[in-house]
Amino acid sequence: MIEIKNLRKFYGNLEVLKGIDLQIEKGKIFGLVGRSGTGKSTLLRCINGLEKYNEGSLYVGDVDVKNLSEKELRSFRKDIGMIFQHFSLLERLTVYENIALPLRCWNYDKSFIDKRVRELLEVIDIPDKTNSKPRELSGGQKQRVAIARALAMEPKILLCDEATSALDPKSTKSIISLLNKINKDLGITMVIVTHEMHVLRSICEEIAIIEDGRIEAVGSVEKVFLNQPPALKNLVGQKEI
Ligand code: ATP
Ligand code: MG
Repeated sequence: MIEIKNLRKFYGNLEVLKGIDLQIEKGKIFGLVGRSGTGKSTLLRCINGLEKYNEGSLYVGDVDVKNLSEKELRSFRKDIGMIFQHFSLLERLTVYENIALPLRCWNYDKSFIDKRVRELLEVIDIPDKTNSKPRELSGGQKQRVAIARALAMEPKILLCDEATSALDPKSTKSIISLLNKINKDLGITMVIVTHEMHVLRSICEEIAIIEDGRIEAVGSVEKVFLNQPPALKNLVGQKEI
């Protein structure tokens, strides 16, 4: 589904991704972990074409991301939902309007949008907050709305950049089970970037550790944790496991 070969990315003279090879299978929940500044968000942004890379290849299905025109990119991104660390909801819009936003951008008609938003409100299970503004929601509820918005266009892939790191343990748990449910019910492939080891362990089928722009280890959670590469030890040293 996602095939990355020898991907290199520079910001000016700074080489951020130094030859990434990764294969992420369809329907999997794939975890990406690594210290701050090692290139995780950059890699996610390369996957959905928000960021151009310098060398190597990146295919999503049979789409060669590098060679897409602006117009093709726009339609390619319909297939890829993204959730950011800081929710990125529009404060002046209600929950309903936030979720409807991508559908409005694509000019769907009003009755289709209404049906889709109500379905999504059901999925994220906050029925009584339809007309609330983001400031009236808890962190976990905001993240649910961000997830609903990312699902609005029925993407095949969901990229989650630190989707739970601003949340308390209880909200983190409920977001994890929501992501799990979405993966099982809708078959959406997920790439989850996180600092939190317990998130990796509870949701990811396969993980990669990225260290200084390179993949240091990849495999099932059990395998990677069993081998304990140095980068994992560093992370464990920094954070609770
Ligand atoms: P964190 O865990 O803190 O979110 P990360 O692994 O997501 O870190 P990135 O955001 O991908 O790291 O950044 C990787 C490196 O690229 C960092 O050194 C960062 O300063 C640099 N960088 C990121 N975005 C840009 C940009 N737009 N212009 C220049 N340098 C950038
Ligand atoms: Mg980041």
